[in-house]
Amino acid sequence: MAAPAVEATAATALRSVILRARKAAEQVGRDPERVRVLAVSKTKPVSLIRQIYDAGHRCFGENYVQEIIDKAPQLPEDIEWHFVGHLQSNKAKTLLTGVPNLAMVHGVDGEKVANHLDRAVSNLGRHPLKVLVQVNTSGEVSKSGIEPSSVVELARHVKLHCPNLVFSGLMTIGMPDYTSTPENFRTLSNCRADVCKALGVAEDQFELSMGMSGDFEQAIEMGSTNVRVGSTIFGPREYPKKAT
Ligand SMILES: *Cc1c(COP(=O)(O)O)cnc(C)c1O
Repeated sequence: MAAPAVEATAATALRSVILRARKAAEQVGRDPERVRVLAVSKTKPVSLIRQIYDAGHRCFGENYVQEIIDKAPQLPEDIEWHFVGHLQSNKAKTLLTGVPNLAMVHGVDGEKVANHLDRAVSNLGRHPLKVLVQVNTSGEVSKSGIEPSSVVELARHVKLHCPNLVFSGLMTIGMPDYTSTPENFRTLSNCRADVCKALGVAEDQFELSMGMSGDFEQAIEMGSTNVRVGSTIFGPREYPKKAT
């Protein structure tokens, strides 16, 4: 079987992504420690995730609730899981119950889902959950995320009315083909400036989740603190991103 070769390749690919991320940070005088590389493992088997884990990596991203709650219990507890996709309010409890080591939810795009997450954290008695507000920077109606003009309001809601959530920053997904442009990144970084000013948050404490396989270096140069890299580490995904 070809599996071991694929796994060796994934660990090598991850190392190369981490090096490239580091270089991109240094290029613009940023601290490479402030950039988290999330290995986005959706559609990939637990055995492959395990391989990357054994190579020393701890930060993983998934974007389907059913998939992350299946995988997380089969993997070590010191993994730092990030939920990077759109979350339906009625799945908040399932997600939190199934993944005790969930570190961050990147896709909060409304008060309803924020409130559901807040309540679920409280009911489970777990420590506060870090969340990012998802911003639609591409203007695509099909994309989730809120309009840039509504960001301050939602951030304020999380900060003031969701005591079990830690409002930690902003996230964006670019175009439907998962690429982003400097314009998407610039929009997100402008939103950060607005939120920091309105809510009195320090910019250097603030997380930005932007950049994927094709554009993570550029995203880092433009201030990203979380790059979500899937196919460059794990290879192409076997089934389409969207079932229609
Ligand atoms: C799948 C996915 C990624 C990874 O995309 P690649 O182009 O494979 O690196 C990043 N972010 C989100 C939200 C995703 O769903």
